[in-house]
Amino acid sequence: LAALHRDRELRALLGDEGLLEARDPEWHHDATESQGIAGTPWAVARPADAEQVAALVGICWRREIPIVPRGGGSGLVGGAVAVGGGLLVELARLDRFRELDPGGWRAEVEAGVRTATVHRRARESGLLFPPDPGAAEQSQIGGNVATNAGGPHSLKYGTTRAWLTGLDVVIGPGELLSTGGRARKDVASYDLTGLFCGSEGTLGIVTAARLRLIPAPAATRVLAGFYYGAAAGCEAIAAALASGVVPAALEYLDGAALAAALGAFPGGAPAQRGFLVLAEADGSEGEAEQAGAALAEALTAGGEMREFATPAEQRELWRWRGGVNGAVRARRGGKLSVDVAVPLEHFGAALEAGEQVAAESGLELASWGHAGDGNLHSSFLFDPADVAAVGAAERGADALLERIAAMGGSIAAEHGIGWAKRGRLGLQLDPVALELHRTIKRTLDPKGLFNPGKKV
Ligand SMILES: Cc1cc2nc3c(=O)[nH]c(=O)nc-3n(C[C@H](O)[C@H](O)[C@H](O)COP(=O)(O)OP(=O)(O)OC[C@H]3O[C@@H](n4cnc5c(N)ncnc54)[C@H](O)[C@@H]3O)c2cc1C
Repeated sequence: LAALHRDRELRALLGDEGLLEARDPEWHHDATESQGIAGTPWAVARPADAEQVAALVGICWRREIPIVPRGGGSGLVGGAVAVGGGLLVELARLDRFRELDPGGWRAEVEAGVRTATVHRRARESGLLFPPDPGAAEQSQIGGNVATNAGGPHSLKYGTTRAWLTGLDVVIGPGELLSTGGRARKDVASYDLTGLFCGSEGTLGIVTAARLRLIPAPAATRVLAGFYYGAAAGCEAIAAALASGVVPAALEYLDGAALAAALGAFPGGAPAQRGFLVLAEADGSEGEAEQAGAALAEALTAGGEMREFATPAEQRELWRWRGGVNGAVRARRGGKLSVDVAVPLEHFGAALEAGEQVAAESGLELASWGHAGDGNLHSSFLFDPADVAAVGAAERGADALLERIAAMGGSIAAEHGIGWAKRGRLGLQLDPVALELHRTIKRTLDPKGLFNPGKKV
């Protein structure tokens, strides 16, 4: 099996370009590399179209070869890593932008189209595709669908699932299934689109997505509030949510995350550096103005407020925000980010729980994320060469997940369960729901070939 890249049947189907030896370290990890999640696939398949994906799944099904679907490899839970070997199926060659219909507010793209390409193409037609996970230049729509990716603007617009009207998915034993359609409303069937969205490659391989778009807002106001500490920052978040407007985004960075990223902050360092809240208002000129004023009032109390007025300044700020993950990782060389969400009333307690667990583990913690969704990325920092610290971070992550579940929170807000949180679904789901998950997995994947060991 280690020589699967020389397999005659696979090579006859995929050609030389479509079947590679998995030597390149790029194929051995995703964005969890610094926390030590790695695996060497038996070979890398790079199918050129959905028909090849279907034929490939047919071969794997018959010969019982495990399949690990892979998009851009930007995932943060090890979902696209072949930890137990198997065939890595990389979707980058399915990169056709099939349709962009400005009048119908819709697009249809193959799974390997980059998220940033969808954003750009929509923008060029005056439209918006709102889901904006941070690594948009690297991630693919198929990966966004498989993880039901979110991002800063899910607060107002929802996660990827809200922007799908249908999918093409290859399921076992090698069939191409089409869910949903081009209509914007459709309640005829069980929600198969919703089932595959967020299934993390454990039920099939997404080959194309039909996307909803909306007219892009004409205006945006972007504000930053700096505070001496988390308590004042949490008050500002609560005030923004009580202000009577729906922020397009409401983000936070704690003191440690801010310290890691502050050097590159556009506009210079503030005096108050214990906590940062970013808020965006959007809409027509009048709506953005009005909502921006309400958010500015909420953020100013107890803090130091800045505004990013021009589109260029706003882009620079969001680019900086996109670099926070890397800046925090660079502090010690490694990190384990625990992506969770809590009911909003527990947001402050969830921040504190991270601090307490980190102190008990003897590790530094940095936390940032999508405050308006109650979505924290509490990250244990360590030197990846320090095996004891990596172990302490893993135990700390487990302890934190238990505390979040006890608050009625979600153990995976937007990054998925993947490999990093395998076996933990029972913390959140009741036994009946957990068994139903297993039944769905067994029904669609009785041989356990799709992304084994992940999610369920
Ligand atoms: C700097 C940074 C910032 C990030 N910010 C955010 C954020 O704000 N919000 C957020 O939600 N995420 C964020 N992420 C995580 C990541 O970008 C998303 O999870 C993204 O959607 C993954 O897409 P991908 O194409 O890279 O998928 P991969 O990492 O390749 O795969 C992710 C999972 O999807 C499966 N998969 C991939 N493609 C397919 C397919 N075609 N069919 C079936 N299964 C498939 C894989 O098996 C795996 O389980 C961030 C990551 C980084 C590195």
